Parts: sequence; structure tokens; C-alpha cells
Amino acid sequence: MSGAAAEIHERIAEEIRGLSDDLIGLSLDLHAHPELAMNEKYAAGRLTDLLRADFAVEEGVGGLPTAFRGTAGAGSPVLAFLCEYDALPGIGHGCGHNLIAAGGAGAAIALRRAAPELPGTVSCIGTPGEEGAGGKVLLLEAGVFEGVDAALMFHPGDTTMPIRHATATRQLVLEFHGVAAHAAASAQDGRSALAAMIQFFTGVDALRQFVPETSRLHGIITHGGDAPNVVPAYTRAEFMVRALTGDVVDDIVGRVEAVATAAATATGTTVRISRGLGYAERKNNHVIAGLVAGHLRRQGVPVEQPVLRGGTGSSDIGNVSLVLPTVHPYLQVMDTGTPTHSAAMTEAVALPRAQQAMLRMATALACAGADLLADPELFDAARAEFATSGPDLPS
Ligand SMILES: [Zn+2]
Ligand SMILES: [Zn+2]
Repeated sequence: MSGAAAEIHERIAEEIRGLSDDLIGLSLDLHAHPELAMNEKYAAGRLTDLLRADFAVEEGVGGLPTAFRGTAGAGSPVLAFLCEYDALPGIGHGCGHNLIAAGGAGAAIALRRAAPELPGTVSCIGTPGEEGAGGKVLLLEAGVFEGVDAALMFHPGDTTMPIRHATATRQLVLEFHGVAAHAAASAQDGRSALAAMIQFFTGVDALRQFVPETSRLHGIITHGGDAPNVVPAYTRAEFMVRALTGDVVDDIVGRVEAVATAAATATGTTVRISRGLGYAERKNNHVIAGLVAGHLRRQGVPVEQPVLRGGTGSSDIGNVSLVLPTVHPYLQVMDTGTPTHSAAMTEAVALPRAQQAMLRMATALACAGADLLADPELFDAARAEFATSGPDLPS
């Protein structure tokens, strides 16, 4: 590491120290105000208020009211630090996006303040609706990522891993329509949308053995009928298919849809299937992930080798990662074994330990960004890896 680079890293660490009260305050404030996907008005307002001192802020980018972009500097290359800030129904910030938001904004601000002399553009993009609403997919389609040379963000978890595979996924909504009738007096005139739904779920169970082991098929019935003495005329389910790649997901989705159609045929009902947005598999940029890992280790954070396996979660960062060099490292903020999307995680991501970890990650992301802006050859290496490599898949 050159002396100049080390000096920038030290300036970034100082900026993060200076910002720490604001960033921790923001993280805890968002935790206390959980908002569901695409309804994150309070969070978007808090984040844009924080960014405004250093960045030109646009609200509602890409046609999404709670998306935003802050931009500082000019020209190429363009680095984007991403924030997520949606919570989960029932358990609040059980995915820790309050930390992602504060850490992403903190990294962008610290890099900009510490090294305004570096060439290029630093941006902070607020990406709403990660939990199922596909905010990044929609922002990609709207062109918000055009011109971005690299995207950096992190996710809290129970281990620190710079690289991890994530499954591709697609959501389906299934609605069966039958014929209502008195469930005892004229049952023969009815056609049960609930019978169709039960057939669908058992049919999917029959399919499980015949899909790749790394796939996951899971769903819930959101409407199962209205009264026990009425043959249900309408039922609705939300369903998800996950697999290692989007191609495999789409193949399984076709087979799941065939199960639904067969269930409708068997029960004399009809089915309407709506396909939701697809989340892609993840292509980690190892050059940039290596920089982040180095800056974490430098701060004393133990970094684990990635274990690539199936059955992981999914994120819309996958779609971004197939379009431009992207990192999405995981950061340990809680005890090993604490499940994500749980009340235990909601509790953990408000503790001081998680806030301190978030500050170290903000420092590491900003330092990696500084390295890329300061060294065009390093940036070229990240671009070259992106051009020649595929997603990370379990062997
Ligand atoms: Zn989540
Ligand atoms: Zn998450």
C-alpha cells in the first residue's frame, strides 16, 4: 500500500469516527420506525436529509417514490454505494436494513469528504423494496444504474463473508376461482377453490423430489375461503421458487404452473397465475470483495472464506450484479447461528455491537471505493473480471 493510499484510508476512518453519532442515530431511528417495502417514506427522508450536505440529491428516481440518488464529483468512473431500508411485516427490521442504510450512506459521505481530490463520481443510491418488491430490478429497468461502474453495499448477518452465493428466485401469485354453494345442502353445485389449492400444494410436494436439491419451493395461502358452510369460490396463494440460477428457476416455475393448472382441471375450477419479478443469482466481484475484506481485516474483523451452497436467500442485488461489478459482503453483527428474518435478528441489529460493526464496514467500503478511484489499473482489473467471469455457484 502506498503512503498516499494509507493516508486516504486514515482520513476515511477519521470521517467515520466524526459521523459515528449521526450514523448510529440514523440506524436506531430507522429501527424504531420500520416501514414495509416501497413505503419507506420516513427512511428515505432521513437518508436524503443526511446526504444533502455533501451530495446533489434527487428524490423519487426511477419512478419509485422512496428511491433516491445522491451525486458528488463528476465524470467517470462512477461508484455507487447502495442503501436498503425496508422492514419485514410483523418483525420490523429483522433483516437489518437499518444498518445497510446507515452504513451505505456513511461510506459515501466519508469517501467524498476524505478524498474530494480523487477523480470520478461518488453516488449513493437508495434502493427501496428489497423484501419482495424488487426495487433494484425496477431501478435497473428505469436506467438508474446506467453509467455506474461499480456498486458496493453490504448485508448484516451472523458471519463475515466477502463473497456468498445467492439463489435466483421468482414469486408467483395463484388465484383459484370455483363456484360457491351451500357446503351441505347443495355441495354438488359447488366447485371448491380450496380443494384446488390443497391439490396444488400436495402436487408441489410430489414435484420436490424431481428438482435439483439446491432448489426451494415454498408459499402461503393468503385466502382460503370465507365460511366453513360455504364452498369456497376464491382462494389465493403467494408462492416462491428458488434455484441456483434464473434459468433453473424459470424451468421449475413452468412445472409449478402446470401443477396449478392440473389442480384446477381436477377440481372443476380455474386458476389465474401472476408471475412476479425475478431476482437473479449473484455474481460477486472478487477484485472489489478482496479490497473490502482487506480493509475489514485491517480493522481487526475476522473474515471467513465463503462457503458456497444452495438454499441461501435471494436479493435483487443479484440483478445489479449481472449488469456491473458489484459487491454485497456479509458482516457479522450478531452471534453465529442467529437466524435472519427473525425477532432475534430484529433485537440484535439495534444493539451497540451491531452499530460498531456497521461503522467498520462503512470504513471498509469507503476505503475500497477510494482504492478503485485512485488506481485505474485496479478498476480495470475489476472490470476485466466482470467481463470474463460468471456467477458464484456451489461446485
Ligand atoms: Zn431479508
Ligand atoms: Zn436483507
